[in-house]
Parts: sequence; C-alpha cells; structure tokens
Amino acid sequence: MDVSYPDTQLFIDGEWRSGVEGKTIPVLDPATGEVIGKIAHATKADLDAALAAVDRGFKVWSATSAFERSKIMRKAADLLRERADKIARIMTREQGKPLAEAKGEVLAGADTIDWFAEEARRTYGQIIPARTIGVSQMAIKLPVGPVAAFTPWNFPINQIVRKLSGALAAGCSIIVKAPEETPASPAELIRAFADAGVPKGVINLVYGVPAEISEYLIPHPVIRKISFTGSTPIGKHLAALAGQHMKRATMELGGHAPAIIFEDADLGAAVKVLSTSKFRNAGQVCVSPTRFLVQDGVYDGFLEGITQAAKAIRVGNGLEEGTQMGPLANERRIPALEALIADAVAQGAEVKTGGRRIGNKGNFFEPTVIANAPKSARIMNEEPFGPVAIVNRFSTLDEAIDEANRLPFGLASYAFTTSAATSQALGMKVEAGMTTINHNGLALPEVPFGGTKDSGYGTEGGSEAIEAYLTTKFVSHFAA
Ligand code: NAD
Repeated sequence: MDVSYPDTQLFIDGEWRSGVEGKTIPVLDPATGEVIGKIAHATKADLDAALAAVDRGFKVWSATSAFERSKIMRKAADLLRERADKIARIMTREQGKPLAEAKGEVLAGADTIDWFAEEARRTYGQIIPARTIGVSQMAIKLPVGPVAAFTPWNFPINQIVRKLSGALAAGCSIIVKAPEETPASPAELIRAFADAGVPKGVINLVYGVPAEISEYLIPHPVIRKISFTGSTPIGKHLAALAGQHMKRATMELGGHAPAIIFEDADLGAAVKVLSTSKFRNAGQVCVSPTRFLVQDGVYDGFLEGITQAAKAIRVGNGLEEGTQMGPLANERRIPALEALIADAVAQGAEVKTGGRRIGNKGNFFEPTVIANAPKSARIMNEEPFGPVAIVNRFSTLDEAIDEANRLPFGLASYAFTTSAATSQALGMKVEAGMTTINHNGLALPEVPFGGTKDSGYGTEGGSEAIEAYLTTKFVSHFAA
C-alpha cells in the first residue's frame, strides 16, 4: 500500500504554487507525532492575489450557464470517486481516522457534489402577479458573489465540499482557507475540480495563520459571503466581523448533543447505533452524541451496553487493518480531555471505562464512558470533542427535554423510543437544528444540516443550502 504523503501548495488563479515569502508549515502524523510533510503558507501578497483571482473568477463562473456548471461539477465528483483510495490514505495519514472512514468521507463528498450539481439547475425564481396589465414582476436568483470559507480538520473533505459545492452550484467563486492540520486531502478535492475544468480563479485554496487570513478576507470588499465551521467562540468572533462589514454568513459551530433513551426503546439498537456514532472519528464530530440521558428503567442496561461497546473498540493507526478508532487529530485535545474528565470525577462522576491517553507516541485516547456527571461539571457544559460518552439518568419526558435544552448549544439530538407521541414531542420541543430518532439519519446531502442557538445559523444540506449562496433580485418590466 502506497502511504506516501505529499507536500501541499496554495492554489491561486489556477496555479499550484508556494507562498510569495516561501514560508511553510509542518504537517504531523497524529498516529506517530512525526513530521510527514509541509504546506505553503500564504501571506498578505498571496491573499491579494487570491482576492484578485476570485473576483475575476466570479465574473467568469457567474456567466457560465447552470447547465454547464452542473456538468463540470459532476465530472469533479467522478474524478473524486476514481481517486478515492489514494485520497483516503492521504487523509488517514494527516487526520488519523481509520481508512474505511476516510474513504467513506471521500465518496460521500462525491455524492454531495452530485447533489449540488443537480440543485444548480433548479435555482428557480418567481413570477409575481402584477397590478397593471403589461407589467412582468420577477424575483430572480443571482449568485451572491465571491465567498470566503473557513473549515476545520475533523472532516477535511466533507467540511469543504458542502461549502464549495453550494457556492459553485449557485455561480459563486470561492477562496477556501482549509485546515493547516489536514491540508493535503482538501488539496486533492480542489484538484478534482480543477481537473474537471473549473476555470482559473473560480476556486482558490490558501493556508496560513487562520486569524490573520479571516481578518483580512472577511472585511475585504471583494468578498460577499462568509461560511465558517469550527468552535462557537471563533464563530461568534467571525460572525461579528461579518456583521460589521455587512457580509452574509453561515455559521456551523459546536454542539453538545443529547441522546435520550426511553424505557420503551429497543435497547440493543440504541447501544449499537449510539456507540458507533459516539466513537466515530474518535468523537471529534460536531454532531457527536455526548450527553446520554437514559430513563430509570433502562439506565443500568444501557450503561453496561455502551461500556462494553467502548471496551471492545480496537484503537490504533488508521492505516492498519481492523482499526476502529484512530488517534485524536491534535495533541492539544489530550490534556483538554484529561482535564474535563478529572473535573467530572472530582465532582462525583464515575469513570466506567477509559479516561486516559494510550501509550506515549501518537495522540491515542481510550474510548471513555463516564456515569453520573453532575450538571455543574465542565464536561456537561463544554463540548468534549473527543471519545467520551456521559451517561446520566432521567425519569420523565419533561425532565429529559429540560436537560436537552439546558445548554446554549442546539446542533444535533438523538432519541430512541417506540412511542409516536414521545417522538412527536421531541421533534417539536428539543431545541436543536436536527433530531434523529431510532437511527442515525443525519448529514446526507439531501437533508438540512445546521444548528440553532450558539451552534450557529444556516443550513449546509438539503434544498435550502444553495440559498446561502444566492441573492433574490426583483425585476419589474413594463412592456405595453
Ligand atoms: P479552534 O477553535 O482553535 O479551531 C477550530 C477551527 O477554526 C480550526 O480549523 C481553526 O483553524 C479555525 N480557526 C481558529 N481561529 C480562527 C480564526 N480566527 N479565523 C478563522 N478560522 C479560525 O479549536 P480546535 O482546538 O481546532 O478544535 C476544538 C474545538 O473546535 C472543538 O471543541 C469544537 O467546538 C470546535 N470544532 C468544531 C467543528 C465542527 O465541526 N463544528 C470542527 C472542528 C472543531
């Protein structure tokens, strides 16, 4: 198996190149801690070049028919599928996730491109009945303009492909500030689009110091739309900057998903689905189930089930056959998780399994289950963003809904119940952008994906997603 890892360059105005100042950033393998490559580091001159290119690219792409844009996008999706094995290996080396998860992400990325390619041809407007004979009143949809997108390292391709595909489908050009921790698989995504025939300047890719880049691009007059995925504090900062400069924004931020298991649920299915969801990508997922709220009668059974499931997970290098959970992507999450767990234990929580780093090489962490963490524990309020399940009990539906809604986050929520009335109540009352009941049905390209409250605004899936990149213009024409 070829596990070589490429260096990554900037992609500006259709050219792969180094930064003007020649600076680079090292890339580490999270499974070994070793430096495996480097990325070109953009400075102001590179950003100015990207801004000039994206401005020109917008003029070209917005004048390309939706039919033609759609064809080029579908070709990019096909190229991504053809290259999926190679890209998956690159992703595992830089991010750590098991090869099968990485390949699944690449293929899902191709499906997302196809979905938006189809939506590109359906950006319908409206004809509005006029008050005067001879007047045509039209609401037409136009691309909003050049986009700046900022994406994190947990899903190196998926986080970009949603923004990129939505923007391109609508006729927008884009500058992507991809994650410095996991740069090479996003570069392969951009390469697929370039090879498929997207004109130069339409897509630009930069890396560098995230705050320097966002603070330069967001206020810049060329940029008309911002899309960010990452933590709530950074999202609030960038949303404020966007607001100050009257830029449209989509914010996909942190979560602390409740998973509510009722006494009438299929317990085996709940354990299986929720433990898989919890430990996927080592829990570094904004929609990861985190607060498991279990009704009294099934509490012991669920706690035992998820503890056994966690113990059975094979943790290792994502490139190795049979690995079910890889290392954490960043070493900084290890002390952060240790501190959250220690605080919970100091406040009376019990560690049922896990809780510690594995070995002293690579960022491996044990799949962890803790029980009875009090509401005052930090981990009950802050997103752990790691492989930790917190299992607490509840008695009544109202109590579960109150706890689900206690936090300022409102991204994903999960439930297991066979009661239609309970399902309906959860659908209406849980303050979350998404609720999935009796299975994990989240994050397909064709369904809405987004949060409410401190988890952000806007959706990156479903037929509404392309709206983020469109503006409505009214045209009234008198032809009498
Ligand atoms: P972080 O807040 O430092 O960074 C998160 C992402 O935002 C990174 O990709 C980073 O490069 C980028 N970023 C940081 N400051 C920025 C700025 N000023 N301008 C533009 N981009 C900026 O957090 P982290 O340590 O990398 O990750 C931990 C936390 O991030 C988690 O607790 C979670 O809340 C959040 N996160 C969320 C998602 C998600 O899918 N919503 C993904 C990754 C991380």
